[in-house]
Parts: sequence; structure tokens; C-alpha cells
Amino acid sequence: MTSATAERTESTAATGARVEFRGLRRAFGTTVALDGLDLTVEPGELLALLGPSGCGKTTALRVLAGFERPDSGEVLVDGTDITHVPANRRDAGMVFQSYSLFPNLTARDNVAFGLRVRKARTAERHARAAELLDLVGLPEHGDRYPHQMSGGQQQRVALARALALRPRVLLLDEPLSALDAKVRLSLREEIRRLQLSLGITTVFVTHDQEEALSMADRVAVLNAGKLEQCAAPAELYRRPATAFVAEFVGTMNRLPGRLTDAGLVEAAGSRLPVDGDAPGTRDVEVLVRPENVTVTADADGEAVVVSTSFFGSVTRVHLDHRGTPVKADLPSRDAGELTPGTRATVGLAPHPVLVVPKSDAPKSVAPKSVAPKSVAPKAER
Ligand code: ATP
Repeated sequence: MTSATAERTESTAATGARVEFRGLRRAFGTTVALDGLDLTVEPGELLALLGPSGCGKTTALRVLAGFERPDSGEVLVDGTDITHVPANRRDAGMVFQSYSLFPNLTARDNVAFGLRVRKARTAERHARAAELLDLVGLPEHGDRYPHQMSGGQQQRVALARALALRPRVLLLDEPLSALDAKVRLSLREEIRRLQLSLGITTVFVTHDQEEALSMADRVAVLNAGKLEQCAAPAELYRRPATAFVAEFVGTMNRLPGRLTDAGLVEAAGSRLPVDGDAPGTRDVEVLVRPENVTVTADADGEAVVVSTSFFGSVTRVHLDHRGTPVKADLPSRDAGELTPGTRATVGLAPHPVLVVPKSDAPKSVAPKSVAPKSVAPKAER
């Protein structure tokens, strides 16, 4: 961003608004999309709504945008109940997954569309469109039509259009998912940089945990229309509040364990402190991140290497430990001799672990798998 652009961004948006969802409920026939959702988005924050398909993310965003009415509950912006305010009077800018530009309008006219609806003068419209196209890095693209631009460029124009009316809230509904990986990464950083410089309260829907963890101030994990946990990325990763969050965010091993009289838990030959409440049963399952599993080649070991996946600096080693699948993330320089078929001893780093009852297998957890390098949120890198 140029310094001229940085100066201009000061005036591009109103300061961030506080958004509150209170007890939102929305059902479609027998499908309950939102089941009493309570959530507050702080002024100027980028909050990601994350969760498996069908958990209600888009419905929550559409209720905030005014495209969907809740059956009950309220939406407040800066303390004002806007639940029944029509979408066009909500002061929100929105970017959708599919490029929703008007195909017959140039980039400039797309960006200025809202201003035209508001009957702004031509000179003002053009000045504002130029300012915004500059802001999203497309100062030379004003005369181009959507079909003359790449997907990433079209999403930038969509972003400029969403910001043109200086909305108090920016709503992003999977805006990057139709883009190829490289463009997605660069636009991810750009959206975040822009959002920070504008200080605009932003709600970002994604089913991609890597995207949520790397961009958001806080991530709200939804499950079946309810909030499971809302926390900063590193907190969510290190201290998941529920087994659902633990297994949805990042990768988790589930190992058989046994609680001891001393209040510890035994698993894979280690004794570890329990994080939080232990279930009432002695036989439990212990949740352990792959980076907290150690692996040593050992001809007498109880584990055997099944396969390995090389991810640059990290290698993920898949093992079978007495019938239980175990994933371990090791620095690649330490993983060289762990070829498939190698016998090994598995150990666990001495950190407190989440312990769940043996039968507490979460249903419908289908996290997008992520490479080890991206498992740790940015705060941990
Ligand atoms: P995805 O990541 O797949 O987009 P999501 O978390 O955004 O999922 P929603 O789109 O909010 O989920 O949908 C929540 C539930 O409500 C789903 O079961 C969905 O099928 C249902 N649903 C959403 N909109 C409608 C609708 N207009 N009519 C009927 N059912 C709907």
C-alpha cells in the first residue's frame, strides 16, 4: 500500500461497530440452522465463523446482513436492535464466494454502484471508485469488465464495492474459496491488512480452519447452530474448551488412557496431568496433538511406522501403536530413519492433556485436513 493510500484509508470506513447476536434461532422446516446463538463481535475485530458444513455459519451471516429473519433472538449493532431493519438500511458491506460483480459494468461502475443508487454526483462516484480501486491494488483496472479480470482481481473489486459506502460492518462469506491456492494466500493477507488499517468490524465465514486461524482476531467455532467456543486462534488451539473444538481445530490423536489415583492419566507409556475436568470413568481417551508425540526408532518398540508425509521442515509420521493409529509431527531432520515398517517407541510430551470418556466420539466432525506447518496458529510460529 502506498503512503497516499494509507492516509486515505483513515477516511474510508467509520470506526468499528460492536455486533451482538443474542439467542438467535432459525429453523428451515425441521432443520435447525441456528439454535440459540449468542456471540459478540468487538469493535474493529475480525471474527471468523468456523465450523463444519451445515453448522449455521452462513445463516448467522445472512441474519446479520438482513437477508434472513431469525425465528427468535436479536441482532444488535452498537446496542441498537436491528433485527427488523431491512438489509438495504443496515450499513453493512458484503462479499460473497462467487464473484457477484455486475458483468455489464466496469470495475469502476461496479465499485460506484451503491453511490449511484444513492444518487451521488458523477465526479464524486468516480473519485470514490478510484480511491477504492487504489486501496485494493487495482488503480489501473477501472475500465475493465469482470470477464477481463482474474478471479482474484474480481474479488478485490467486490471488496472495494463492499467498502464504497463506508459500512460499519464488513461481511465476508467464504470470499476466497473459489480462488486458487496462491491467490487465496495473498488475498488473505491483503484483506487482513486492509481490515486492520480501516479498523472495520468484520465477520468472516469460512470452513477452512487454516484461513480462520491465520486471519482472525478471534475464531467462533459453531456446531449444530450453537457456539462451541470463541477465542483467539492460539487459545483455541492450545486450550480447546470442548472435545469438538479440540478435534475440529488442528489435528488430534485419540489415545486410550487410564486415570490413576493420583489424578494423572496414563497413556502410551506416559503419565500426564489432566487439563480441566476428568470424566468419572477410569478408562478414558486422551487427546494429544501430533507435535506432542515423540517417536524413537527402537527394534523392541510397541509401535510400527505405517507411512510418512513430508511437509518441508516437518514430517508427519503415521504409526500403529498396539492397534491405535497415532500421528506424530517431527522435525524432518529427525524423521529420516522412520521409514514404513520401522519399529519405534512412542512417547508423549509432559503437558496437561484433555481427557474424554471413552465413548465420547464427537459426531459429524469432518475437519478439513491441514498440513503440519499450518496446524500451529500464527501466534505460535
Ligand atoms: P456450509 O459450510 O456448507 O455453507 P453453513 O455452516 O454455512 O454450511 P448454513 O448454510 O448456515 O450452514 O446452513 C445451516 C443448515 O440450514 C443446513 O442444514 C442447511 O441445509 C440449512 N439451510 C440453510 N438455508 C436454508 C434454506 N433456505 N432452506 C432450507 N434449509 C436451509
